[in-house]
Amino acid sequence: MRLILLGAPGAGKGTQAARLMQKSSIPQLSTGDMLRAAVAAGTAVGLKAKTIMDSGGLVPDEVVVGIVAERIQKPDATRGFILDGFPRTVAQAQALDAMLAGKRMDLDAVIELKVDEAALLDRMAQRVRETKAAGKPVRSDDNPEAFKTRLDTYRTQTAPVSAYYAKTGRLSVIDGMAPVDSVSKAIDQVLSAVKA
Ligand code: AMP
Repeated sequence: MRLILLGAPGAGKGTQAARLMQKSSIPQLSTGDMLRAAVAAGTAVGLKAKTIMDSGGLVPDEVVVGIVAERIQKPDATRGFILDGFPRTVAQAQALDAMLAGKRMDLDAVIELKVDEAALLDRMAQRVRETKAAGKPVRSDDNPEAFKTRLDTYRTQTAPVSAYYAKTGRLSVIDGMAPVDSVSKAIDQVLSAVKA
């Protein structure tokens, strides 16, 4: 199964991708996680990405496309993958289509978690509180200023990605404001319809 989860920052993509990964043993490929790992390791990509990520902007397409191209070649991705946080621009979506076409592969589903933007800042603040309570480090872009930029970036650059997939009939939209379990159920329904 090859699946994309789309949605604004804080929409619940990571939570749902992690649940799907547990159920299906298909890896969650989060470009945000991969970039944070590159930053932590101090690689050339990490050094380039850090300032952009901290401000809430987007890392250049060629950098993330390169990371994803490399990651989907790994053995654990042969049975499929759940893309979380990629593609974030139409150019990335086009590059992914070309990448998959080159391997004679297609996407099984593209699911957008639709959320009410007004609630997202609260969700981010909640995530920060939970992370701190668990004694874990808080993301450097989980602060009101960077979060506002992430939302603006989403609106201008990532929202068109949904339209890109909708045009080819590949997009399913789910209510991301529903409780986490209900969102998981709705995703399962989309996936069973795809498999049927
Ligand atoms: P995330 O963990 O998905 O919220 O991503 C954190 C940050 O990493 C984003 O705000 C971007 O700066 C960067 N990033 C993650 N995925 C991408 C992508 N597909 N394209 C460009 N930048 C990305």
